[in-house]
This record gives sequence, C-alpha cells and structure tokens, in this order.
Amino acid sequence: MHVLICGGGVIGACTAYYLAHKGVDVTVIERSGVANAASGKSGGFLALDWCDGSEMELLARHSFALHQELATELGRELQLDWGYRQVETLSVVASQQRDLQSLARQSALDWLGPAAHVHDRIGSPATTAQLDPERFTKGMMDAARQKGAQVQVGTVEGIELSEDGQLATAAIVDGESRPADALVIAMGPWSILACAWLPLPGIFGIKGHSIIYRFEPSSNQTLFLEIETTEGQIENPEVVPRADGTTYICGLSSQALMPVDPASVESDEGAIERLRELTAAFSPQMATSQVLASQACHRPVTEDGLPLIGAVPEVGGAYVATGHGVWGMLNGPATGQAMADLIVDGSTPHVDLAPFNPGRLARFDPDRLNLR
Ligand SMILES: Cc1cc2nc3c(=O)[nH]c(=O)nc-3n(C[C@H](O)[C@H](O)[C@H](O)COP(=O)(O)OP(=O)(O)OC[C@H]3O[C@@H](n4cnc5c(N)ncnc54)[C@H](O)[C@@H]3O)c2cc1C
Repeated sequence: MHVLICGGGVIGACTAYYLAHKGVDVTVIERSGVANAASGKSGGFLALDWCDGSEMELLARHSFALHQELATELGRELQLDWGYRQVETLSVVASQQRDLQSLARQSALDWLGPAAHVHDRIGSPATTAQLDPERFTKGMMDAARQKGAQVQVGTVEGIELSEDGQLATAAIVDGESRPADALVIAMGPWSILACAWLPLPGIFGIKGHSIIYRFEPSSNQTLFLEIETTEGQIENPEVVPRADGTTYICGLSSQALMPVDPASVESDEGAIERLRELTAAFSPQMATSQVLASQACHRPVTEDGLPLIGAVPEVGGAYVATGHGVWGMLNGPATGQAMADLIVDGSTPHVDLAPFNPGRLARFDPDRLNLR
C-alpha cells in the first residue's frame, strides 16, 4: 500500500510516522518545507483537560498521553529531543495603564514587572506541558523517515479521480501525476484548496502573531495573560518559556487574507510592535531582550470549530485531517495515529472519530475561494 500525504505540518508528520510504524509505504509532499507554517510557529503548549466537556475531550486526553510516550520512547530509541517538559501554568493580569504591585501576589515571579500580577494557577505539571513545535514536527518527520517514509518538496495542485469520480487515484504534484492507494489532505488552512478537487467542507485560516526572545526566565511557568491596554481594551497573549533558553509570546489574531503560497505569510502592519509593547507591560526585562524571530501564521479552523478527521465523503481512497484550530500541536499524535488506523485497518480503537466526520458539514463552494 502506498499513501501520499499532502502537507508537512504536524498533522502530516504524525500521520506519516504512525503509517510508517505500521509498515506502510508513505510519501509526504510539502510545498515550502516541513514545519514552515503554523506547526513551526505555534506555542507548543499542551493541556490534558482543557478540552474536557467538548467533543475534543477524548482526542485531547489521548494525545496528551501520547506526547509523553513519544518524548520518552523516541528520545531513547532515536535520541530525538524537542524540549518536551511538564510545566505549571498560571493566569496573569497586567496593565499598560496601572501599576498592580499593590495587589497581593499569589506567588511572585521575579521576571514579571510591577504592572503584572499572578492571578491563579490554571495548570499543574501533571496537566500541562510544552514543547518546541518546529523541533517536534521535524522530529516526528525524522522518525517517520527512519521507518522508511519519504519527504519531497512539491506543490499539490489537484487530485485525479477514477472515471466514475468515486475513487481518488493520484495527486497532481508540480504538473505530474503521482498515483497512490490512499491520499491524505493535511495542508492545514491551505486544505481549502482541496475543496476544488474533492467534496470537502470549508477550512479557514485565522492569523496569529508571535515573537521569540532570547530570554531565559528564572522559572518555566507558561502564562496566559489578560492585559488592560492604554486604550482600555483587553488583550490575551500567551507566554511559553522554552527549554532552550528562549521565550515565545503569541497573540493578536486577525482575519487577514491568507496567501496561496505558505512561504508568503507576513505579519500585519504594526502587529509585532504592538506585541512588543504588550510584552513590556508584563515583563520589561523580556521586552528589552534580543528578538530571535518575529512572525505570523494561520491556524486552520472549520465552521463548527471541530477538526475534520476521516474519509472524504463519496470518494474512496481520499482522507482529510485538518482544522485543529488552537490545539493542533496537542492533537497531532492522536490524529496521526487515528488516521493510520483508519487507512490501514478501517477504524481506530483509540478515539471516537464520529464527531470529526468530514461529512457532517456541507461542501464548500470552491467559487467562494478567496486567497491572496
Ligand atoms: C500563533 C499560534 C499559536 C498556536 N499555539 C498552539 C499551542 O500552543 N498548542 C497547540 O496545540 N496548538 C497551537 N496552535 C495551533 C497549531 O499550530 C495548528 O493547529 C497546527 O500547527 C496545524 O497543523 P497542520 O499540520 O494542520 O497545518 P500547517 O502547520 O499549516 O501545515 C500545513 C502544511 O501544508 C503545506 N502546504 C500548503 N499548501 C500545500 C500544497 N499545495 N502542496 C503541498 N503542501 C502544501 C504548508 O506548507 C504547511 O507546511 C497555534 C497556532 C497559532 C497560529
């Protein structure tokens, strides 16, 4: 059996790994480089129980456990390391207008300034963890390669169907037909392009901005902030100190149009400066540190907020795995494992995929496609 995966983000990498683990012949086609989009620019924050009470609960809990297993097993077997560590997570309030030092602090963090105040402990090392998303995605792809998978640079431009339209037989990559027994659409928000090739619901890209500072805080808590701005609005950046002596901060979502080429994603005008000002509001020390990267990426979302994981309706041999929104890093392993089970065995014993059935949503009209 030969499976062709379209897209080398975290979902494509995890699917390739679990398929290769089952002995399947896998090729990943990636347009701009493994982890070049959201999977390399995300926070890499993981939570056991933050999806509890939603349709995502079982997927998220199972994936959180798989992350721990993968970090241990692939660390031991292949010496792969993506900075996975279990952490405490705090909610912090801060203000660009006021000094909050007078408020009683639950636990003082010496890397926060006087305008910031720890409000609550919202995750413990048993329930929250973090990793470097780029190293994780590339590490999973390396592990897949070591089990025989191939990764090729190329642009997927279409899917070929059998004469009766009921079977996907090949992908068109850079103008060439690439036959496969099964095809997986895992192009993140660019999976919307596949709506012109297959009967799929819409997948949209919501933009987020981030900065990586060369800043090693004295403690490694992940922070979820609520910042009162000078204009009296509230912004909610997230701060993830990483094991490599850097600190990642993200925020400022926007609906800006996505370019067709993932390599052309740029920050909105003024967004990075704004994020630096927000950094200064809670940690003047961090805000004056060296900036290693300032970037933007689009996370894939669907109309009902749940991912699409499963067989494409009405077309045999075609599968889709995308739309994980803010939880794609967390849910990568469980999604990849479930996809591999589904393609090889027809079902998975690990998670209930029914809520993620791509057929639950109406087909997107490709004439409405609106990319830059
Ligand atoms: C700012 C930000 C912070 C985040 N923080 C977290 C977090 O802390 N925890 C968490 O769990 N999730 C987080 N997420 C969400 C997570 O990053 C995404 O859900 C996840 O990365 C999506 O992975 P993907 O593989 O579906 O898509 P992508 O990473 O977008 O990968 C899709 C790939 O497809 C390729 N591609 C596109 N078009 C083609 C084509 N025509 N041919 C071939 N290849 C193509 C692209 O180049 C890309 O590499 C965050 C997202 C953002 C934006």
